[in-house]
Amino acid sequence: TCIKPGGTDVTGELFQLYYINMSVQELEKKKTIDLRKKHIGPSCKIFFSHDPIKIVRAKGQYMYDENGQQYLDCINNVAHVGHCHPDVVTAGAQQMEMLNTNTRFLHDNLVLYAQRLQATLPDKLSVCYFVNSGSEANDLALRLARQYTGNKDIITLENAYHGHVSSLIDISPYKFHQLSDAEQSQFVHVAPSPDVYRGKYRAGHPDPATAYADEVKKIINNVHKKGRKIAAFIAESLQSCGGQVIPPVGYFQQVAELVRKAGGIFIADEVQVGFGRIGSDFWAFQLQGQDFVPDIITMGKPIGNGHPLSCVVTTREVAEAFMSSGMEYFNTFGGNPVSCAIGLAVLDVIEKENLQGNALQVGQYLTNRLEKLKEKHLLIGDIRGRGLFVGVELVRDRAKLTPATAEAQEVIYKLKEQHILLSADGPHRNVLKFKPPLCFTTEDVDLVVEKLDLILTELEEALG
Ligand code: PLP
Repeated sequence: TCIKPGGTDVTGELFQLYYINMSVQELEKKKTIDLRKKHIGPSCKIFFSHDPIKIVRAKGQYMYDENGQQYLDCINNVAHVGHCHPDVVTAGAQQMEMLNTNTRFLHDNLVLYAQRLQATLPDKLSVCYFVNSGSEANDLALRLARQYTGNKDIITLENAYHGHVSSLIDISPYKFHQLSDAEQSQFVHVAPSPDVYRGKYRAGHPDPATAYADEVKKIINNVHKKGRKIAAFIAESLQSCGGQVIPPVGYFQQVAELVRKAGGIFIADEVQVGFGRIGSDFWAFQLQGQDFVPDIITMGKPIGNGHPLSCVVTTREVAEAFMSSGMEYFNTFGGNPVSCAIGLAVLDVIEKENLQGNALQVGQYLTNRLEKLKEKHLLIGDIRGRGLFVGVELVRDRAKLTPATAEAQEVIYKLKEQHILLSADGPHRNVLKFKPPLCFTTEDVDLVVEKLDLILTELEEALG
């Protein structure tokens, strides 16, 4: 323990408020929190902000704090094949020892990786652009769409999130509720989220896919009335931050037909949900049926297993229209040899360890166990998911769908006390989100579900 209050560090001021008997670890953590406050933008959010965890290492589906305490990671969807997977670490380190450079030099990893990615996709999607984040990927997707179509207007979904760069703020109503830039926002149109639990057209509706597609049609007609045309419709293949929403089958195909007829293209954002997570298919847009192929897909988070790596894949026609406009594309770090070596290793691990199959099997087990909990706990309004992408929507009243926001936050904090990391999202922050690494096991599921059961029992008793 620390026996002296106060003390100084490089800043000369941070220790003034520390107390006698704070353990060395607590002191170190407090110091990190203070340094974060001092040097990092105050709007940069942190998990469990009133009592953040200091993570010092991670392995598989576990993270460890400075005291060696293990946490089960159910949310960190960038550690796709497991944290610090040795094959991925080795591939990155070996390439780093040999060469890293920008993409203006010829190097094999870039083309090898592009070929491997394209092998997971329909033939039509045959041209890659490598970037470093999901936001960059979506920003480029909009540029490609506008250049190819010659149009400017974009349709996005209510509660969507596509990234933080300025071109995406208006198309990400989930995080940025007020349209930010009057100039840009006049070209952005928000269609209702195709949510069949809480949305405009719900379960029980005879054809929610068509009803939601008709909403897009209305927007297209309004744009035409203004004498303009649609450049693109953009949607997350499964809406993630917006509350783990699974669009009804047929919706994307109908929207794609409408949008293409109106001169636009379809962009599927796979940044959170692609890459084997849903188990049954490698990409989440494939849930919409074999006939549906987007014109552009964007990917990020899991593909580098925590290393910054993202990609836009599109058709030859779209890419050629971009080039013929004189638009040279250059990205210093996008597709560098180290990123691509890591990307290749991630794909190898998914195959070698059958992680897509594991996502399907363990995801189904998780959903089944949660469905059983729903029979017991009235607080659970809806379970929805595919593979290891599962949402649990908590409600105070099943008939009225009153969001149980405070209860969802309680669940998150109580689980954290039990060393299980989960988050709550959705427009009412009442949807518990499961997006663990794909090496998650049925034992992990048992542990979380048992704890969740106890916490929900306590909460329901308190509600009376
Ligand atoms: N698209 C989706 C669906 C996302 O969830 C995110 C990030 O959360 C992004 C894009 C932006 O990705 P990044 O944070 O890597 O820029």
